[in-house]
Amino acid sequence: MATLHATAEPAQDPAYAIAMAQFNAVADRLDLEDGLRALLGASKRELTTHFPVKMDDGSIRVFTGYRIQHNLARGPAKGGIRYHPQVSLGEVRALAMWMTWKCAVVNIPYGGAKGGVACDPKNLSLGELERLTRRYATEISILIGPESDIPAPDVNTNARIMAWIMDTYSMNVGYSVPGVVTGKPVDLGGSQGREEATGRGVAIVAREAMRLLGKPLEGARVIIQGFGNVGSNAGRILNEMGATVIGVSDSSGGVYNPDGLKPSEMEEFRAAGGRFCDYPTHKCITNAQLLELPCDILIPAALENQITAKNAPHIRAPLIVEGANGPTTPEADAILAERGILVVPDILANAGGVTVSYFEWVQGLERYFWDFSEVTTKLERVMTQAFTEVAALSQREGVTLRDAALMLGVQRVAEAIRLRGVYP
Ligand code: GLU
Repeated sequence: MATLHATAEPAQDPAYAIAMAQFNAVADRLDLEDGLRALLGASKRELTTHFPVKMDDGSIRVFTGYRIQHNLARGPAKGGIRYHPQVSLGEVRALAMWMTWKCAVVNIPYGGAKGGVACDPKNLSLGELERLTRRYATEISILIGPESDIPAPDVNTNARIMAWIMDTYSMNVGYSVPGVVTGKPVDLGGSQGREEATGRGVAIVAREAMRLLGKPLEGARVIIQGFGNVGSNAGRILNEMGATVIGVSDSSGGVYNPDGLKPSEMEEFRAAGGRFCDYPTHKCITNAQLLELPCDILIPAALENQITAKNAPHIRAPLIVEGANGPTTPEADAILAERGILVVPDILANAGGVTVSYFEWVQGLERYFWDFSEVTTKLERVMTQAFTEVAALSQREGVTLRDAALMLGVQRVAEAIRLRGVYP
């Protein structure tokens, strides 16, 4: 791998193109003032850092990382950090903007941010991963803090990485600051239920969407693209709610069984380092094939730009619930709407993670911790209320759930800016 990787122009990044097309359409619909449109169409702060990491073989490799704050009108910046070879300035910019709308849709008092490092964690030893994390955390320490910008896990990052970030930040200031990250291990001030929260939120909104369609969740056939933290927990919880998972995939390919798969077995297989393309007893299918199989609920829970104008005409699910951020392009959205396929958008569907991050932050500030059932009861309330609000707005305005969620989110942020006024 080249040490310094050249990133594409942000404007050409597919995620950024999706985020801006969505924002411009909703800004038109809301008739947003020119000043607000310009302000909300850009990030507030963007940090790019090229930093060295000592590798196990004694060499030094330079990595590129980002931390971007999109908007802080409603509160401190909030959003995850992802480690992936495709991380770029444009992608992180898009993801930060989506965090702003997402926090506003579930009405938690945060602005939006995102971070990322262009790297392939599969090719790093544990020691290299820790040194990369600690150096990146130090590089972005001019932005992050419990009152200013609070990172969390995202693609390929987890509680252990959050613990290293918390420790690094704390070492640099000289005292422990658990509130600087969420998604920490429970033993370090993390919240019960945070690990599964995004998946649980996806399952809750899938249940609500099925109710809206007048269909039973019991026996509903579910296909999940991506079996990381979000996909695997959504699959397990939907299974507990009575649905049947019939297809899953990871980056290597997918496994399909129309009679049902056991999410717990799939999780065990993955935890033991298995790749679905090698799954015994089942023929491997591609991710592209998986998305076009017949089912009742399709959950893209991997990366951006998966449902496009090319495959949208062939999707055979009446309901799509977006576990990933930005999996559907605006062109695909139009095709799906035309075909009567209901899409529960990312900024609503996967907001369970940041919602329990908020709970974790609140518990940390109070130094008073809740049990699992208190967390899930509160999560249920936030997710069902947000779903109800978005569904009502979509009906009232005659728009898709995505447009309604974006309208709600952008409107709330715009109102916060109007109330605060422009300084000086
Ligand atoms: N990375 C998650 C997301 O995209 C969670 C962010 C957070 O908890 O701050 O929503």
